[in-house]
Amino acid sequence: MLRTLDQIDSFAGEQVVIRCDLNVPITNGVIQDPGRIEAALDTIDEVISKGGRPVICSHLGRPEGEDPVFSLKPVHEYLLKRYPNLFFSNLGEVPEDAELVLLENLRFDPRETSKDQVAREAFARETLQAAKFVVVDGFGVIHRKQSSVYELAKLVPSFAGRTVQRELDVLTKLTDEPSRPYTLILGGSKVSDKLGVIDSLLPKVDTMLIGGGMMFTFLKAQGFEVGKSLLEEDQIDRAREYIRRAEQLGVELVLPLDTVVASGFSADAPHETADVSSFEKTSFGMDGMGLDIGPRTAELFAKHISQSATVFWNGPMGVFEFDAFANGTRAVAEALTKVNGLSVVGGGDSAAAVRHFGFEDKEFGHISTGGGASLEFLEGKPLPGLEALND
Ligand code: AMP
Repeated sequence: MLRTLDQIDSFAGEQVVIRCDLNVPITNGVIQDPGRIEAALDTIDEVISKGGRPVICSHLGRPEGEDPVFSLKPVHEYLLKRYPNLFFSNLGEVPEDAELVLLENLRFDPRETSKDQVAREAFARETLQAAKFVVVDGFGVIHRKQSSVYELAKLVPSFAGRTVQRELDVLTKLTDEPSRPYTLILGGSKVSDKLGVIDSLLPKVDTMLIGGGMMFTFLKAQGFEVGKSLLEEDQIDRAREYIRRAEQLGVELVLPLDTVVASGFSADAPHETADVSSFEKTSFGMDGMGLDIGPRTAELFAKHISQSATVFWNGPMGVFEFDAFANGTRAVAEALTKVNGLSVVGGGDSAAAVRHFGFEDKEFGHISTGGGASLEFLEGKPLPGLEALND
């Protein structure tokens, strides 16, 4: 059973290391989306209210050594508004009497992500210093066997934080007796990244909608031309197999009817809408590149989504970073806000897209704080961070 904060009434004035996921997008020192910081606050507050002295830690990005671009200083400034006494400390230099601390980026030390277990254990002890408890609340890294996620939680009594608990509660609803109809929407660039989740959820859903770059491998499997669109030649057979399996299982697998074809991969590339059956007939011929689902598909997908009682969405429908190719992703996001039931945005790029369009978190049932972690959970893989928190 997972140990949570429900299992502890008092931290008895001791230091408590809280492993959060404060890996927020930062440009020129400015936080672009504080969603993950906000998600961490109730756990920090609960540790304080239970008499603990938090030592908050997190990674930020993938620095090579101590690169100031990846410093957690902007996060410290953000948190100072709520916790004026928050001290910012380098790794291994936390004063024993400190009341409330944010540690510098854990990944400034290569041992955090080292493949060598002994190195990770040594770093975990240095991260812990004088603390007597650990709370693991970084859901976005719960699938990683990293020092502060796994080894750290084994050193002293450890508990799952409220973010982790919330994520697990929602994601469990997607696998155990979901309300029906249940629709899975997959997009993003690669089929090969989504094999695990398709294998695990295909038998559970009623409908699966496929867009994004990965749709072209499915369309090719059906015999359509796809020009220069993203295509994973080595996954075509697999896509064909999924189409067959869906049919056997009685799952409605809905592939795009039309696509937005561009002359190349750029924000201002000339583009046209084409039916998937006449891809090569656009002005760009076989040089065309499909960068979004077309409007008929967007409408069809929106209809399926808004009629569902459970929806899980992972992966943008097109290159949403370019306005001209964002319409499909926006339509899907909008449809999710209308679901009368549970709508879950599966983190990563889909969460970024939703916020890019200006939707608010509360318009969705849940926006996961961890893309890869939520997929691995749904795939049924063991998550190292959870293993360490289970009795
Ligand atoms: P993933 O990381 O697999 O979720 O993929 C997300 C990325 O897929 C986003 O950056 C999108 O721009 C990209 N993407 C979505 N649709 C397409 C497409 N049709 N062609 C190329 N890239 C795409």
